Amino acid sequence: MARYIFITGGVVSSLGKGLASAALGALLQARGYKVRLRKLDPYLNVDPGTMSPTQHGEVFVTEDGAETDLDLGHYERFTGVNATRADNITTGQIYKTIIEKERRGDYLGATVQVIPHVTGEIKDFVLSDPGEGVDFVLVEVGGTVGDIEGLPFFEAIRQLGQELPRGHACFIHLTLLPYIKTAGEMKTKPTQHSVKELRSIGIQPDILLCRCEMEIPDSERRKIGQFCNVRQSAVIQAMDSPNIYSVPLDYHREGLDTEVLDVFSMLDTAPKPDLTRWEQISHTLSHPDGEVNIAIVGKYTALTDAYKSLIEALIHGGVANNVRVKFDWIEGEVFENEEALISERLTNVHGVLVPGAFGERGSEGMIRAVKFAREHAIPYFGICFGMQMAMIEAARNLAGIEQASSTEFGPTSEPIVGLMTEWTRGNEIELRQEGGNFGGTMRCGAYDAVLAAGSRVAEIYGGLSISERHRHRYEVNIAYREAIERTGLSFSGLSPDGILPELCERADHPWFVGVQFHPELKSRPFDPHPLFASFIGATKDRSRLV
Ligand code: GLN
Repeated sequence: MARYIFITGGVVSSLGKGLASAALGALLQARGYKVRLRKLDPYLNVDPGTMSPTQHGEVFVTEDGAETDLDLGHYERFTGVNATRADNITTGQIYKTIIEKERRGDYLGATVQVIPHVTGEIKDFVLSDPGEGVDFVLVEVGGTVGDIEGLPFFEAIRQLGQELPRGHACFIHLTLLPYIKTAGEMKTKPTQHSVKELRSIGIQPDILLCRCEMEIPDSERRKIGQFCNVRQSAVIQAMDSPNIYSVPLDYHREGLDTEVLDVFSMLDTAPKPDLTRWEQISHTLSHPDGEVNIAIVGKYTALTDAYKSLIEALIHGGVANNVRVKFDWIEGEVFENEEALISERLTNVHGVLVPGAFGERGSEGMIRAVKFAREHAIPYFGICFGMQMAMIEAARNLAGIEQASSTEFGPTSEPIVGLMTEWTRGNEIELRQEGGNFGGTMRCGAYDAVLAAGSRVAEIYGGLSISERHRHRYEVNIAYREAIERTGLSFSGLSPDGILPELCERADHPWFVGVQFHPELKSRPFDPHPLFASFIGATKDRSRLV
């Protein structure tokens, strides 16, 4: 039977619980164990897909088309295990299930209550089949202890602590040890209070993972152990790290995996960890041979978490080319008012990337950025919305289709981009997205595409059949193929039925590729996505010129 590790957080949010969970998963993997990571999200939204990226960060899409929390992206990147719909649940989903059951009469007249019904649903989710041979299921509880909405989740994992066989549950609590500069002291009180809160709802943490800016003095470690009723060796220091891929090494050095295995009485039999690949990637990241500057002309640039996977995929591309990747975040909108700003901001960058976006705001600025990159031979990577803007740019500026636009921005006489139902005339591909706000119209999850033989993208992928994750409602209109291809922008990848443009590229440019999907979702530090590796390679070439 699998063993369960529950990861909770306290003191403040944004301590990096997702990353901590992912790093622990990686450490257990490094010892030869099979892991699965799951996330419990206490908010009421039925799915994170409906939440603003500037508030909640990126929506991470799984192979099976679930729109989930961005922490699942960390899980995938650190463990290489694909997450599924069954790895993320929200309060909204739980209540939806319960209310549907109640309406059907499944409760046979019983009073439906938080305990046992809501907690029961949470436990069922946690315990649902983790898959063949999984040794550890890591379950992260979103939010911080003490949040009203989190209570049923804490109660559910408390119950599991009793219901699982003895020695099959471990509770890790992530806290913060603030350093007060004026006093020159590290403060343990917030951690003490956070653990007190946790204990008041019946959970005694086995391990404390303490985020801090500097080393925890022994005296403070002892104090935390005593006040929080945790062994001193289980007070683990989690110092800020210059790069996230060295976190597994840091945690191992501090003894996190050892303490976890000790909780499960597995220390004597556990294999030694093989951390070679983590050592290698940390070394590569800290000894780059050069630097590239990428301008990201986007829409949600106020919160970089909105582009979490994109940032990581670009860093992976940097690893593949042994360069450090620097980001220049630009709101598309700023290019709309000041033409001169475009050349000022883009002339010296080594690559331009227009990422995914929804809605009209900023799109004109992005189209201008595409034009500038095309005309000045700056490597250009258009992702999803970024490919759609590249198509509109070519149609308007090169094919003479002045009114070229997307129906996402309102009715247009030249729908270069539009809803697939507007022109596929009964050939609509099957949509997997069920229900919900965007329900039924968003293409989400993995879909196949076929690449044109001899194209640049076929060379980059090293094959003609690919599968990539999607998340969009609009499509490039295949009816404009001929007109756009005449401008030099070729449709080098299509859906297998030939109806939906999936990739495009320019042969007359050092590197100009647009993709309708989100390749960043599948990039891994140990397996950089070929498009990102190739794009960063092209930006590296440019960095030697400008
Ligand atoms: N807004 C566009 C669409 O829905 C692009 C979406 C995206 O970039 N993810 O098709």
